Amino acid sequence: MQEGKLLIFSAPSGAGKTTIVHHLLKKIPQLAFSVSATTREKRGNEIHGKDYYFITKEEFLHRIAQKEFVEFEEVYTDNFYGTLRSEIERLWAEGKHVIFDIDVEGGLHLKKKFGDRALAVFVQPPSLEVLIQRLRGRATDSEEKLNERISKAEKELAYANKFDTILPNHDLETACANAENLVSGFLAKK
Ligand code: ADP
Ligand code: 5GP
Repeated sequence: MQEGKLLIFSAPSGAGKTTIVHHLLKKIPQLAFSVSATTREKRGNEIHGKDYYFITKEEFLHRIAQKEFVEFEEVYTDNFYGTLRSEIERLWAEGKHVIFDIDVEGGLHLKKKFGDRALAVFVQPPSLEVLIQRLRGRATDSEEKLNERISKAEKELAYANKFDTILPNHDLETACANAENLVSGFLAKK
């Protein structure tokens, strides 16, 4: 099979990785998004098969047993997320490089597995306070879920140095332009 590269964008929830990844998908046609499987509930504007494969916990556990995941995690209590091997292979077969929006541990896991074929980018918010503001501004989570995300974010911010590159996300336009340069440079390398 034709094997492409992997572009991994990780960060605590609210740092801006989904926004940046969407921008890159619009700008760089060789990229395709790895749609993860999850057991969390669908948000209003999300589409099954585009944002996530929304599946039941039962189906998720079955797929773990069948060894269908390259990596998976219970990112939040009772909310499982995972990357399906079939998803990466499907996109490579289309001649694409695969881009991931994935949590910090999952991102490092993929980097370890794929080595030089992968670029692991940590999207860094200006501060924890700003991250919290962004999460609240997004208004997609209940207060309980929000608190879980905030306490996880505090721990995840400490992982930045384990990544190939840190991408600061202060001003969004600058971050998107820097992300484009990073990805184009990596794709151009032999
Ligand atoms: P993540 O995917 O890392 O959880 P999102 O991309 O959903 O984060 O961004 C969280 C919220 O912050 C969204 O409402 C998004 O519009 C906003 N946001 C992202 N980047 C910036 C930025 N540089 N400045 C201000 N708001 C931002
Ligand atoms: P959200 O619920 O906000 O869409 O995502 C919650 C967290 O799970 C985010 O940090 C997101 O990047 C991460 N995530 C999404 N898909 C995967 C995946 O396949 N594996 C792992 N480990 N994390 C994922």
